[in-house]
Amino acid sequence: MSQLPFSELKLHTNVLENLSSLNYDMMTPIQAKSLPHILAGKDVIAQSQTGSGKTAAFGLGLLEKLDVKKMHVQSLVLCPTRELADQVAKELRKLARTVPNVKILTLCGGMPMRAQLGSLEYGAHMIVGTPGRIEDHLNRGSLQLKALQILVMDEADRMLEMGFQSALDAIVKHTPEQRQTLLFSATFQGQTKSIAKRMMQQPVIVQVASTHDDKSIEQHFYQVGDDDESRLQAIRLLLLQYKPESAVVFCNTKRETEDVANALIYEGFSALALNGDLEQRDRDQVMVRFANKSVSILVATDVAARGLDIDGLDAVINYELAHDSEIHVHRIGRTGRAGKQGVACTLFTLRDDYKMTVLGDYLERDINAEALPSKNLLKESAFKAVMTTLQIGGGKKQKLRPGDILGALTAGNDIAGKQVGKIHVMDQWAYVAVSRDVSKLALKKLGDGKLKGRSFRVRVI
Ligand code: AMP
Repeated sequence: MSQLPFSELKLHTNVLENLSSLNYDMMTPIQAKSLPHILAGKDVIAQSQTGSGKTAAFGLGLLEKLDVKKMHVQSLVLCPTRELADQVAKELRKLARTVPNVKILTLCGGMPMRAQLGSLEYGAHMIVGTPGRIEDHLNRGSLQLKALQILVMDEADRMLEMGFQSALDAIVKHTPEQRQTLLFSATFQGQTKSIAKRMMQQPVIVQVASTHDDKSIEQHFYQVGDDDESRLQAIRLLLLQYKPESAVVFCNTKRETEDVANALIYEGFSALALNGDLEQRDRDQVMVRFANKSVSILVATDVAARGLDIDGLDAVINYELAHDSEIHVHRIGRTGRAGKQGVACTLFTLRDDYKMTVLGDYLERDINAEALPSKNLLKESAFKAVMTTLQIGGGKKQKLRPGDILGALTAGNDIAGKQVGKIHVMDQWAYVAVSRDVSKLALKKLGDGKLKGRSFRVRVI
C-alpha cells in the first residue's frame, strides 16, 4: 500500500503541526485504514498489534472530537494493564501537547484510591484506565460517563482473557447509547467477537496485512513402530524440537491420554490428560491451567478437546492417526495463530497404510513420511511451561474480581502487569497465572496480603 501523509486528513492545524514536530509524517498502515472511519464517527474494529501505531490512531480521533471548554469526561480508553494505560496516557499527552488545557487522567487498579478521587473532583476530559477500577469509580459515583462520546477498548482480547468481561459490560451500561465505540485487538474471534456484537453498531472492520494472512499449518508425518515406546519417544523428540508454549497431543482412547500424560510428566514435561473421566471441577482446572499457559501440553481425546476454547495452538501432535480424515483436519485446524504458522505432526504405522491413502486423497496432496528429529535431542531436558497457576480460595461468591487480584499482585511495582497472565474467577475459586520466575513472590503477596479486605488461602497448583 502506498503511504499516506497525515495532511490528507481533516485534522486541526495545531494537531497537524504537532504531528510533524513529532516526526509523524506518514500514517502507519493501521492509521491509514482506521483514521478516516474514526474521524467520520463510525464504530471501528481494528485488528492490530502493539507497535503498529494504534494509540495515535484512536488518540487522534479522540482529540478531534474533544471540546476543551466542556469540563466532563468525553472519552474513555480501557486497557488490560496499568503499564499499557500509562503508555497510552503518555502517547495521548504527546499528541495533545499543542491543544491547551486538555486534562487526561489515568485510573488504574493497584493505585491509591484517594488520590484518584481527588483528581476526579477537578474534572477530566479523557480517562485511561483498567476496567476493574473504572467500574469501582462508577459504582461509587466518583466517575460519570453520561456525556461520553467515544469509548475505546484497547487490547480487547487481552482484557477478555484476563476475565474483565463483566466489568466491560457493567461500564458500557453507564455510557450513552449513541457513543462511538472503537475496539483494538490483536485477534478477533470468540469472546472478542461477541462483545463487539453487543457493544458496537455496524462497525467497520480494518486489519493490517501482518495479521490478515490466512492461518497456515505446516503438516509433518512420521512413520513409527506400532508400540507405545516408539510412539512416546517420537512425541518427546517432536516436543523437544518444536518447544511449543501450548500443544495438544491427540490420542484415540482415554486410557492412552493417561498413559501418555504420565509418561511425559515422568520425563519432566508439564503435561496433563483431558478425557471424559474427569470430574467437572478437575476438568475446569485442567482447562484453566492449559489456557493460562501454566501447562504446556494437553493430552486429549477428540471428544474431550471439543470444549477447548483456545484460539490457536503452537502445535498439534497426533499420537495416532485419527479414525477418519475429517477428524484429522479438525484436529490440526486448532493450530496456527493469526499470522503465525502452526505445526501439525502425525505419527502413523505400517498398519495405517490404507487410512493414509484415504487421507492423502482427502487432503489432495502426496503424503511423504519424514525422518524424526535426531535422538541427540533426548539428552536435552524437558522445557517448563512459562507460567505458574496460583489458586485462591475465594471467587465470585466472595465478590472477588480480576481487578482485585491484578491490583494486589502489581501493587508496589515488584511484579509487572505483563508478568501476570490470565485470571479466571469461578464461583468459589479464582485462578491467576503468573510468570514462573515471580511465582514465589506472587504467592507471598497474595497469601500474606488481603483481597477485598480479607485474607484468602492461596496455593500453587
Ligand atoms: P503504538 O502501537 O501505539 O504503541 O505505537 C508504537 C510507536 O510508534 C509509538 O512509539 C508511537 O510514538 C510511534 N508512532 C505512532 N504513529 C506513528 C507515525 N505515524 N509515524 C511515526 N511514529 C509513529
